[in-house]
Amino acid sequence: MKYHDAIVVGGGLAGLRAAIALNQHNVKVAVISKVHPIRSHSVAAQGGINAPLGNHPRGMYDTWEKHAFDTIKGSDYLADQDAVIRMTKEAARRIYEMEHWGCPFSRTPEGRIAQRPFGGAGFPRTCYAADKTGHALLHTLYQQIIKFKQAAERKEMIIYEEWLVVELVVEDGVCAGVIALDVMSGQLEAFHAGAVIFATGGVGRIYGNSTNALINTGMGMALPYWAGVPLKDIEFVQFHPTTLLGKNILITEGCRGEGGVLLNNKGERFLAKYHDSKKDMEVAPRDIISRNIMHEIMAGGGFNQSYVHLDLRHLGEGKIDQRLPGIRDICREFAGIDPVVDPIPIQPGQHYTMGGIDCNTEGETAVKGFYAAGEVACVSVHGANRLGGNSLLDTIVFGAIAGSNAALYIQGLEGKKGEGALTDVLKRAEERINTLGKSGGGEIPVDIKVALNKVMDNKVGIFRDASRLREAVNDIRILQERYQRIKLNYTGKRGNFSLVWALELKGSLDVAEAVVAGALAREESRGSHFRTDFPKRDDIVWLKHTLAYFTPDGVRLDYKPVNIGPFEPKERKY
Ligand SMILES: Cc1cc2nc3c(=O)[nH]c(=O)nc-3n(C[C@H](O)[C@H](O)[C@H](O)COP(=O)(O)OP(=O)(O)OC[C@H]3O[C@@H](n4cnc5c(N)ncnc54)[C@H](O)[C@@H]3O)c2cc1C
Repeated sequence: MKYHDAIVVGGGLAGLRAAIALNQHNVKVAVISKVHPIRSHSVAAQGGINAPLGNHPRGMYDTWEKHAFDTIKGSDYLADQDAVIRMTKEAARRIYEMEHWGCPFSRTPEGRIAQRPFGGAGFPRTCYAADKTGHALLHTLYQQIIKFKQAAERKEMIIYEEWLVVELVVEDGVCAGVIALDVMSGQLEAFHAGAVIFATGGVGRIYGNSTNALINTGMGMALPYWAGVPLKDIEFVQFHPTTLLGKNILITEGCRGEGGVLLNNKGERFLAKYHDSKKDMEVAPRDIISRNIMHEIMAGGGFNQSYVHLDLRHLGEGKIDQRLPGIRDICREFAGIDPVVDPIPIQPGQHYTMGGIDCNTEGETAVKGFYAAGEVACVSVHGANRLGGNSLLDTIVFGAIAGSNAALYIQGLEGKKGEGALTDVLKRAEERINTLGKSGGGEIPVDIKVALNKVMDNKVGIFRDASRLREAVNDIRILQERYQRIKLNYTGKRGNFSLVWALELKGSLDVAEAVVAGALAREESRGSHFRTDFPKRDDIVWLKHTLAYFTPDGVRLDYKPVNIGPFEPKERKY
């Protein structure tokens, strides 16, 4: 059994920022990540990160209050206002910290951090590094990790790369540690810890048409869910308006922030036809634009009844190369077109998980010593619809907060507890893996995954209704039964990705089941959750957070109030 004072699961932005905060508090840290940290999905973030710096001439009078208001309105009033206020108040400080650590932000002619307009924001407040912001931020944090690893007064910063966490161990409501599989050797190991922080990212890959990395399977959300921690607002899934046709690679909102326009098959800027996007046009919030693209396609305004165009040609080659070089590369490599001379064929695709592990503004959960931060967590700052640029901010603000709080918790602990529980769970995990290896069933895991993706794409997408959601419930139940009969195509110990994917698939199925249960129960439309059979927001009944609990018989739903602060819920008009 290994022991570390603190364990951070996840090497993306939230995980690395939490690990730095722990080390800054003199706590010894181990980061466990199923991929090398800089291959985490954070590295793919494109368009930018929000903070009310007021560096753009049109953003001069920006304040944290205005940023908070835009975020809460964007969330369709489901975000907890204390959490949003905390995030927007800390935003500027965290951006300058990243700048001082060397993050190569794009600059204004005067040398300040440049800011571009983004959807649902009253001011241009999205800081960026061309269209590779996640890459710049993640490498900056990883450099800090290396610095801490090599620091003279060694505090211990250990990275376990390519280890898959397969269990979260809780005893009497207190977190004891995790069980993890060393993918390369095939060895299972118990990790005892004073505190555990989960920063395992989103669950986008329960869908097929997703911008997310294939590693975003949902297992990191399933582990605490299985251990008794509820998932909050899990039915709220963001669909990004502009993903590359067929491949669903993200085409950043930064394209529209820089002046790109959406065109139908007649060459019209069709967003002007729809009441909720006619004012802000291409920089209206994501939920609204995604729905209006689909409305336009359904009304016959699309190409091949499946896509519309994003046109950047008028921006010119110079601006495209300076501000959107990654988008030009993606279009050339994956669609054989050049946005300097061709419009980009786009369609909406799954992009972000607003819901997640239920935690408060301190990153604390219902289990003592267990914290969550980043996309896997639901604090909640994004409510029913996240604004672009707010997720990267969420990772570094709440990563730092969760890390600091876990440090204080560990420093107050008396003695080490929970070894017995770890030994028991390790044994059970070994048995589970052995049984999987010996299974003689005929079901191939990837077939179940593809079937799950189809159910989620077709029945739990941008437009939802009771009959298709009920079908989805049944479809997933059948997939759960098929999962009982899966067979691994490789049973060796070393580098067994057949085993890894089979273990992760169970997490995907259970989280998907919670998404569908939450969506079926919520009989209203709010933010990203649009019910064609209940098209209006209903604050009297539904201005509340969903809590989904795992039980052996399926999902149990409960609810809790939203923290309303200074911003009174109003109809969301743009
Ligand atoms: C293509 C794309 C572009 C985006 N662009 C923007 C943008 O411009 N602005 C913005 O604000 N947001 C953007 N987002 C969203 C934002 O990038 C993510 O929400 C954020 O980076 C998530 O960071 P994270 O640290 O929470 O998780 P991730 O970066 O996803 O990291 C998760 C980590 O957890 C580890 N992990 C997961 N499960 C396990 C397990 N069981 N065992 C061990 N390790 C595990 C993984 O190895 C990984 O290291 C974008 C998202 C995508 C997909």
